[in-house]
Amino acid sequence: MSEAPSGSLTIDTALGVTVPARHARGRTARLGPALDAILANHSYPPAIEKLLAEALVLTALLGALLKDASGQMTLQAQTENGVIDLLVCDYLDGELRGYVRYDAERLAEAPAEPSLFALFGKGYLAITFDQPSSNERYQGIVPLEGESLASAAQSYFTQSEQIPSIVRLAARRICGKSGGHDGWIAGGLLFQHLPEGEEGRDRIHTRLDHPEWAHVAVLAGSVQAEELTDPELPLDQLVWRLFHDEEEVRTLEPVALKRGCRCDADYVRSVIERFPADERAAMVGDDGMIRVDCEFCATSFPIAVEVGN
Ligand SMILES: [Zn+2]
Repeated sequence: MSEAPSGSLTIDTALGVTVPARHARGRTARLGPALDAILANHSYPPAIEKLLAEALVLTALLGALLKDASGQMTLQAQTENGVIDLLVCDYLDGELRGYVRYDAERLAEAPAEPSLFALFGKGYLAITFDQPSSNERYQGIVPLEGESLASAAQSYFTQSEQIPSIVRLAARRICGKSGGHDGWIAGGLLFQHLPEGEEGRDRIHTRLDHPEWAHVAVLAGSVQAEELTDPELPLDQLVWRLFHDEEEVRTLEPVALKRGCRCDADYVRSVIERFPADERAAMVGDDGMIRVDCEFCATSFPIAVEVGN
């Protein structure tokens, strides 16, 4: 890059980047209103909101790696006896959704800014890529270790995929001053070393200390949480700050991010209608309706169906 680019790539967007001379590719993403729209449907305590905010920006970074527009990426963190027993987020064509299942009583006893271990105990992080057009499904699972979701994601790439990677995530609540953004902001960055334009997996051996990668990791890793979550700083400017000494840095087409849930009242009704009449009768509530909840968007669908006699 010879001069600073400009643009308005500030919020609810993901931007791909390549540093060709260093065989590195990256993504940066920032969420604001889309994140608030997802969180608004739930009433999570701040520690859970912050974790889900980071998980959603990680989901955006990973989802943007899909080559196929109909591809889906699912991120799932799970434990057997953590304060949180399940966190699920997914990505489909720029649409994000997610929810957390947790024990409110145990969370109340945890510190105000609990560590990843305090929230999950001994847990696992599963990342699944589904690409229907090529009929490819790939899942990697790593222990949910380290001090943050970012470090767990980083070890997912180094352990499960053998790709040298760096992941940074940040989220904070901004209280609106004079018309500025009021709500949650989450930002993240993911850079990976892909020598010879390599895209595949199943490496037998990877040298994780390659000097050209070490250089990229230092530059990408120098990003500050305040920069990732600055609603005024366009993503291309953020990349420019980190890599302005490089001979060439390319940005890819940005991807708009939004809240999206795929639950659908007609589909839910069609599923319910397939149950035998006696089972449907057992599902009917006091109001004479069958209620089906979507955990992702915390929406309850009241469904009136014939239940027979
Ligand atoms: Zn839903």
